[in-house]
Amino acid sequence: MSNIATRISGILERIHAAAERAGRNTASVKLVAVSKTHPADAVAMATATGQQLFGESRVQEARGKIPCCPQGLEWHFIGHLQKNKVRQALPLFDVFHSLDSVTLARNLSRVAEETGQQIRGLIEVNISGEATKHGFTPEALRAEFPSLIALPALHIIGLMTMAPYSENPEEARPVFWQLRELREEMQKAHDHPLPDLSMGMSGDFEVAIEEGSTLVRVGTAIFGERPAII
Ligand SMILES: *Cc1c(COP(=O)(O)O)cnc(C)c1O
Repeated sequence: MSNIATRISGILERIHAAAERAGRNTASVKLVAVSKTHPADAVAMATATGQQLFGESRVQEARGKIPCCPQGLEWHFIGHLQKNKVRQALPLFDVFHSLDSVTLARNLSRVAEETGQQIRGLIEVNISGEATKHGFTPEALRAEFPSLIALPALHIIGLMTMAPYSENPEEARPVFWQLRELREEMQKAHDHPLPDLSMGMSGDFEVAIEEGSTLVRVGTAIFGERPAII
């Protein structure tokens, strides 16, 4: 087995253990293997374990890479999507994790409508309030949620967040439970199911699973370090 395949097996075991600790079904947690900055070969090695779900955060990079990867994989966009990249991004990705403005969501829905697509997306929430992070504040989410779920070609399936970087994954826990609570609140207030919570990365995915994550986005722990600029 390649290193990548070995690491994926290890991550899947840890996902399983975290789900068990939380009394959750392992099948309710999906691993999004974040392949950004890594080549198509690395993706192919990951598929040897049965991994089918991958995440990318740059449209330009994904456009070059995805056609060189095994066909039939599921691709999620997890980065900040610039409005002028919507048209290029739509045919490449199955799910958009990081809808961080009403304008972006409207553009996605409009272009999807033009091309006869129905797309799935999650709303990014900036729980920690860090100025460097994208996403809706909880207050803005409460205000904009009705217009977001009303968009005709965009189906909102959940919420996404990024915890502040910390050596100690326990510090991410309050961010994750706040996202879960916000999910419960929005579901109830608007009678709109939000089955997915995209939260947890290499350093904190186990805590995220304990707090209800259904999509963990793991890059470094599978593919190794990235160049510092990304
Ligand atoms: C890069 C990235 C990840 C993966 O981070 P790792 O720490 O390498 O696991 C997860 N989510 C988003 C939004 C990212 O940009």
